[in-house]
Amino acid sequence: MELRLAYFYPTLMNLYGDRGNVQVLSQRCRWRGIDLVVDEIGIGDRPNLSAYDLAFFGGGQDKEQYKIGADLVQTKAVNLRASIEDGLVMLAICGGLQLLGEYYRPLQGPPLQGISVFDLRTEGGHVRAIGNVIVQAEPELGTKLQLIGFENHSGRTYLGPGCRPLGRVVKGFGNNGKDGSEGARYRNCIGTYLHGPLLPKNPELADYLLRLALQRKYGRVDLAPLDDQLEKETREYVMSRVRRPHFL
Ligand code: GLN
Repeated sequence: MELRLAYFYPTLMNLYGDRGNVQVLSQRCRWRGIDLVVDEIGIGDRPNLSAYDLAFFGGGQDKEQYKIGADLVQTKAVNLRASIEDGLVMLAICGGLQLLGEYYRPLQGPPLQGISVFDLRTEGGHVRAIGNVIVQAEPELGTKLQLIGFENHSGRTYLGPGCRPLGRVVKGFGNNGKDGSEGARYRNCIGTYLHGPLLPKNPELADYLLRLALQRKYGRVDLAPLDDQLEKETREYVMSRVRRPHFL
């Protein structure tokens, strides 16, 4: 079996090791004898996204978001929106999540137009949300799934009725520090503020994405279980130490 992953702006949007998410998807495929072909998609590229099963879009600071914002809107938005409507499985982190919404209005500088995959809007806040996060995932992702990660963002994200959150904040700030929501989901596209990188700490989420992609391409697929003992121990260690986030 083979899966193809489109990796958006890998050199510019790679905050806090977000590239590790792609490495985890690759490795978990390799262990199971699945080929994961990763194509890097940069500024100026016009990929045919209907040829892909997965997509990844990491986080970035405002200055990186300004570098890619116009390119995203002008050369990729139409194709990406259509592919997500068609079931493309996508993960977007922080700055990526923001640009998949309607707009991100930073504290300084002009607003950045997003591509409206998600019905959400993001406003810059004066106090950065920084710290470790625990999120209770929405039941569709697994009733007992708790995600752990690290957040560092100025943006406050507010979801509209057209998308669902990824989960509820147990510890941390999440989308806006007010309504308890974290991240966004629309069809098979997931956005979140969780860096870390996310997937090494949350292998169930990695397998959730792979299962969606394999189901879409090949029909029902059971993923062979892997030995996640190391990941489990890391999670227990992190969970035991997570404190309330501090705000600078
Ligand atoms: N620039 C955005 C913010 O600060 C995103 C930062 C990030 O990707 N961590 O809100």
